[in-house]
Amino acid sequence: MYEYIKAVGNSGYIESPSRVGVIKTADGEAVLIDSGNSKGAGVKVLRALETEGLVPRAILITHAHADHIGGNKVICDRTGCLAYAVGTEYAVARDPMMNPTLLYGAYPMAELRHKFLLADKSPVQLLTESVLPEGMEILPLPGHTYDMVGFRTADGAVYLGDALASRETIDKYKLVLATDIGRYLDTLRQIEKMDGEIFIPSHVPPCKNIASLARYNIDSVFAVAETLCELCRIPKTAEEVTAAAFDHYDIPPTFEQLVLVGTTVKAYLSWLHDEGRVTPYIDGAFVKWKTENLQI
Ligand SMILES: [Zn+2]
Repeated sequence: MYEYIKAVGNSGYIESPSRVGVIKTADGEAVLIDSGNSKGAGVKVLRALETEGLVPRAILITHAHADHIGGNKVICDRTGCLAYAVGTEYAVARDPMMNPTLLYGAYPMAELRHKFLLADKSPVQLLTESVLPEGMEILPLPGHTYDMVGFRTADGAVYLGDALASRETIDKYKLVLATDIGRYLDTLRQIEKMDGEIFIPSHVPPCKNIASLARYNIDSVFAVAETLCELCRIPKTAEEVTAAAFDHYDIPPTFEQLVLVGTTVKAYLSWLHDEGRVTPYIDGAFVKWKTENLQI
């Protein structure tokens, strides 16, 4: 953990619970991709960079989840470097309370206001092409969050953020966090066809071939969709669908998991409604969901 590992050419990463990309630039400088899951991780990332004789010049944020921006403040405070993000990720990274707020739907209860969901506030700038090292490009990868991006370096390293999950994570949790299922699928299909020297997701070991894992993720989305349609044969509120999904997949309920999975279930229901598979209706003061069509 927390050692610099070369991937290809000047592109590498520091292993941590949320992998941090490191692209070496001129004269002992480096551009980071994300900053680790906490202040402590940020300090360890700085130590690893120091060991390599590197000073961070910028942090490029894939998306504004707390485990990707948790080290921003300490790294920026200690080195004077700046963090950059795009679109809604920029808005949330600048005001990290928006992360638990979006999951909860209002000012979040105390159980959701901790480092797992809430990063320290740090200055964040709007990411533009001019910030990128020579030959690097931004890859839009929406779906996990609204405006998540990845990055392709001049060496052919492709950083994928949380665009896809490992087989182990899918087998264990099934309902992998996503906020827009249609765009999540489009992103996975794009990754399935992507070329690159090496692919570096945040929570999946780096690999040379990503296509089969992308396909595993796509198949899992359709399997989850079928399960949710099955659960809505008896009409349910979104909370009841979530509770039934926890039961069906045997996921241990915690406050965090309930809001993460609850958000994902609601994203599936919106998408399945657009696909003509389920319909919402008002029953008393409840919004209930019923299955219209069991087969895609
Ligand atoms: Zn994430």
